[in-house]
This record gives sequence, C-alpha cells and structure tokens, in this order.
Amino acid sequence: MTEPISLRELDAISVDQLQGVGEQRRASLEEVQIHSVFDLLTHYPRRYIDRSHEAKLVDVCPGQQVMVVGDIESVTSRRTRNRKSIVEASLSDETGSLKLVFFNQAWRSKQLDQGLTVALFGKVDLYRGHLQMTNPLVDLVGDRTGRIVAIYPQSGKAGLTTWDIGRWSTEALRRCQSRSIVDPLPPKYLQELGLLDRMQAFEAIHQPASMSDVLNGRDRLVLDELLRVQLVLRMRKMRRLDRALGVKHKVDDPLVTKFVDGLPFALTAAQQRTMAEISSDLNSDQPMHRLLQGDVGAGKTLVAMHALLVAVAEGHQGALMAPTEVLAEQHYINLYELAKGLEVADPTTLTGIRPLSIKLLTNGVTGSDRRRVVKGMEDGSVDLVIGTHALIQEGINFSSLSVVVVDEQHRFGVEQRAVLRERGRDDGKWPHLLVMTATPIPRTAAMTVYGDLDVSTLNELPPGRSPIVTSWVSQDVEQVWDHVHSEVTQGRQAYVVCPLIEESDKLDASSAESTRQELITGVLSDLRVGLLHGRLDAVEKHQTMAAFREGQLDVLVATTVIEVGVDIPNATTMIILSADRFGIAQLHQLRGRVGRGSHQSTCFLVATDEISEDATERLTALEESNDGFALAERDLELRGEGTIFEQRQSGRNDLKLASLARDRVWVERARDLAAELVDERGSLEHHLLFEDEIRWFVERRDDDAENLLRG
Ligand code: ADP
Ligand code: MG
Repeated sequence: MTEPISLRELDAISVDQLQGVGEQRRASLEEVQIHSVFDLLTHYPRRYIDRSHEAKLVDVCPGQQVMVVGDIESVTSRRTRNRKSIVEASLSDETGSLKLVFFNQAWRSKQLDQGLTVALFGKVDLYRGHLQMTNPLVDLVGDRTGRIVAIYPQSGKAGLTTWDIGRWSTEALRRCQSRSIVDPLPPKYLQELGLLDRMQAFEAIHQPASMSDVLNGRDRLVLDELLRVQLVLRMRKMRRLDRALGVKHKVDDPLVTKFVDGLPFALTAAQQRTMAEISSDLNSDQPMHRLLQGDVGAGKTLVAMHALLVAVAEGHQGALMAPTEVLAEQHYINLYELAKGLEVADPTTLTGIRPLSIKLLTNGVTGSDRRRVVKGMEDGSVDLVIGTHALIQEGINFSSLSVVVVDEQHRFGVEQRAVLRERGRDDGKWPHLLVMTATPIPRTAAMTVYGDLDVSTLNELPPGRSPIVTSWVSQDVEQVWDHVHSEVTQGRQAYVVCPLIEESDKLDASSAESTRQELITGVLSDLRVGLLHGRLDAVEKHQTMAAFREGQLDVLVATTVIEVGVDIPNATTMIILSADRFGIAQLHQLRGRVGRGSHQSTCFLVATDEISEDATERLTALEESNDGFALAERDLELRGEGTIFEQRQSGRNDLKLASLARDRVWVERARDLAAELVDERGSLEHHLLFEDEIRWFVERRDDDAENLLRG
C-alpha cells in the first residue's frame, strides 16, 4: 500500500505494535487513555526544554528563577518528628552542585535515582552557604539528545516516563514515513494559511529542531482539531436546513407594529437589529435556530416578545420556556403587561377580534386553572404560554405552535429543546427556535459550543443606566450594612446573596436561612427582611417575590435562585457574601439584578483578603468591568474552556491542543474553512478524505454518531 495512512488506520493500530510495549506497558498506556498509535501521536508534549537556555550552576545566583540540567548525585529521605516527609538530593553539572529539598513528596525518593539526568525549574536560595532549590519542578530528561527535549505528561502511577513516550512516538513517526500521514486539507489551503502538512506537523511537535518548529506544528494540529469540530457542526446545520420545514410568517402585521409603537421608550439600535434578524428568519420556511446573547439588562425580553407576537399575529402560538418558576412567573408578569391592549383576530366572536390571551403554566399552576390553560393551548384560544419544564410534559399539546423561545439556555439540555420541537406541530413542521442567554461567551467560543446556531448579539444597554459601582469589601463590613440602611431610607431595596455551598440546594437553603436569622437579630433588625431559596414551595416563592416587588420587603436574602433574570428596578444594592466562592459569570449575573432602574446601584463583594490568587483575579475583574463580554473573555483566560463546555456538549474532549482563549484566530479560520468544504446538503462529497475522517471522528466518540450529525 502506498496511499498515505489515514487517522482511522492509525487509530486501529494498537500500541503493542511498538517496540518494547508488552502486556504490562500496554496496560499502563491504557491507564492514561492511550490505546492506539493515533492516541500516542496526539499525546502531546506538555513542555519543552530548550537546552540552549539552561544555566550552568557556577553562574546561578541566589534569588534567581532558573532552569538547570544536571545529574543526581545522591538521594536521602527522612521524616520529621511530626511525620512530615523530607527528601533531599544533590545535583551536579560540570561546573558545580546544588542541593534539592522536597517537602511532603515522599515519592521523589523513588523517582530520583543516582545518575539520572534531570531538568529543574525553580528559585535558587542560599542556605547555610550552599545553593538550594526547594520543591522545584522536575523533568526527567533521560538520554534524549537534541537541543530541544520534549517533555510529555508523565504518570508516576502508571510507571511511564517521558522518554518512554518520546521513544514510542519517534518510532511511530519513523514507521509512518514511507507512506506518510494523510492530509485531507487541499494544498491550496495549506499555502494560503502557511501551514505545515500533517506529517510535518506531527514531526515538528514531537521532534522539534527549534522552538519555532513547535509553534508551526502546533498551529497545524490546532487547526485540525478545530476543523473537525466545525465540520461536524456545519454538516449538522446544513442537514437540518436541508430537511426541516418551518412555518413561514408575514412579519409586518399591525399587531407587531402596534406593540413596538406602544412601548414607553425607543428600542436600542441593537434591539432593532436583532429583531430584524429574527424577523427575517421567521419570514422563511427554514426553521430558525438562533441564539440571542445579551448582557444582563440589555433588553432581551422585548426581543423575545417581538418574536412571539409574530407567531400570534398570524394565528399561531408562541411559547416561552424559563428554567425556574420564579423566572417563568416574572416573564409572565412582564409579558402580560406588554400584551395589554393587544388584540388578535377571532372569527368566532361578534366583533371578529378578542384580547390576546397569555397564560402561565408551571407546576405551581394546578387544578381547574391548569386544566383551562392546557385546554386553551390545545384548542388555540391561548396565544402565548409562559412556563417551565411543565410545558414539555406528557399530555401538553399545542394547536399551532410556531415560535419557541427558551430562556437561559444553559439550564436546558439539547434533548429538551428537541421535545418542544416535537410537541410543536402535527403537520411535521418545526417551530422556530430562539435560545436566549444572559451569560455571554466570547465569539469564538460561541462558534465552537453553539456552532450550529446562528447568533444575534445585544451588545448595547438601553440609555440612561448609571453603571453599577462594584467594590470588594474585605474589612469593615459594617459599611455594607450602613449602605443598606441609607438606601432603604431613600426607599430603595437590597439583595443579600448567601455563600454557595457545594452546589447543594439543601445546604444553600440552610445557609440562607441562618444568614437571614443573623441579620434580623443583628444589623438589620429594624428592616423587613425576606428569604428566598430553591427549597421553598412555589406558593412561598411567589409570595416572597411579590412582596419584594411591591416594596413590602426592604431586603431579600437569597441563594443563587435569583441569579438569572429577576428584574426589580427599585433594588439598588447587591451584597454577595463569600464572593470568592462564585465564578465570574455567576457574579456578573448576580450583580445584574441591580442597576436596572434610574437610581445609582452598588454591588459589594464580601470576602476576606486571604483568598486564592484565582479568586482575587475574579473579584478584581468584577471591580474593573461591567461588561459581560469582556468578563467572559477574562473568564476564558483564567479558567479555560472547561467553564464553557458542559458535559453534553460535544467538543470538549476533542480539543487536546487547541485553546479557545489562545487560538481564536484558528477558530474563525476553521469555521470559514468548514463553510467552504461542506456542501448545501451537509455532505463532504467533494472532500472524500475529510468525509472519511469525520465519519471516523464521530464514530470514535461515545455519542451516537447518527444523532451527532442529525442535530
Ligand atoms: P435582560 O436582557 O437582562 O433580560 P430585560 O429584558 O429584563 O433585560 O430588560 C431590562 C430592563 O430594561 C427592563 O426593565 C426593560 O423594560 C428595560 N428596557 C428594555 N429595553 C429598553 C429600551 N430600549 N429602553 C429603555 N429600557 C428598556
Ligand atoms: Mg431577562
């Protein structure tokens, strides 16, 4: 065979085909998820030692951060009186020697053998007249030659060393040489993008002659990873468009115009643009599949209402699904207000028109109320329904659902969206879908996570909002409560959010309860303080929210149930206790509960000075910026893509080398390339090498391959 080797083939060759991999080694490799030669070649070096940069011991000065390479001379280990382990070793090169001390790393005495060559990174100190490094980073260099030494993630437990892995990947690449590794990317693109071919890229990353080799190889392999993900997303999207039909709406109905004209304020430019994008989708018989991103307070609700009214104006129905009862109810209240005075055609009435009918359906709606709503949805006398998961329960049917809005999408799974779609219509058409999220994610990340959705962005706040002033309070917490008092005196209200406790609803609830107790018997004893958490039943939640909304409570102590969407413009103070326990996105969401009216708002992040470096970064980021998109970028830099992908979302494990924070340009290029390669019908017919590669790629994931492409 002289054809280049495909990734599928490499993935079918077991590692035990390599020299020195017997039963035991095979088992060890399996422990670190390396089964095939493909796995081995994509087990990338963690870092490289550039030996031209190493310091000689004679030149090292105390206080310096250095890399030194030398041989281990001796190793001893002992325990202190309080059973702490200390491993000491000495290292030398041809110019001098250095003492190493490791605290609480007893395993080092097994790792470090006399005569071993190691690279150390760390700070050098002077201790009793000798140079010493404490707890340095250690890389075993072994007998690897060359100026640049690749260091692989090692597993002490599995007993694999970096040079075992380096040796095997060298051998694997050598054995690929005569056939070479397949490159499905047409040469034209390689040239345009200035990329190495795939074989060269694998060689460059595993056996670089220089650090620039590493970067070039990495670029190519990063593109490969991102492109596979984008191809799948693109195929899925094109197949959906090719197959599904939606309801085609007229979009300039007087009902819609009347709604917009009746608003007490002008739409922002971003709202207008977004509404136009959505209208154009609804005006097509291809079902909309769109994500509406907008920072907190950007005015997504109006955009949603606009889309829902387009459905209603044509005699169809609209549904809005929210993740919690509190939110569903609030949306209901808002939309109910917005719908006041609107009328729809109804030939069964004397006048031919009737008021638009909007209903709420949650698990809190029961008995005859519930039966009436459900019946109205079925016979079409209910035009708009707002609800929770209750909307997709068995036995709930619509007469003619044509637009669905899902709020705060991250709390719903893809499956639930599909159910709504299927509940939708008898005629096989799909309702148009608008997914709203108030957790902006960076553009390139959105392309990867939501790659098959079109994205509209509300990147502008309505005018007249004064920015929320945020401060991290570590001492003198009294000032926070003083502030609450003075705001309440002026008729304003405040939220107090309790520490997050291990994502446990129950513990969160009890923390909120005890916080409230403490406050009403202490600093806030003169105020009316309510309590809201996820364990209250629907009626209690409803009553508390209503009381707060109507100003019968001054302060609301809550868990993160108020994180999303709660909209009470008179609340101007947000206090987040143990703020270091929350992530950036969550803090920003919580903060977004204030600053919704014309009054100046304040957010206090309460946390001691003794918090981790990461938490410090987060709180400082919040102090410095009110911009959800900028914060999302920061979050991505700080925490990596783990924060963005959820388990069910594809992509996470497919990106071994690519980083959404670092490789933004490549995400965009991959997306553009995918759009060129995939045809109208969602196939890769004209790029058979890619077609085979993508088929292999989806098959090797756990997901059901068919489903993945079906969308
Ligand atoms: P979010 O995007 O966070 O869901 P909302 O839709 O809840 O934001 O809107 C926040 C507040 O801004 C609401 O009180 C809403 O009435 C108001 N609002 C929305 N659009 C405008 C606008 N164009 N001009 C002024 N106020 C607006
Ligand atoms: Mg909202």
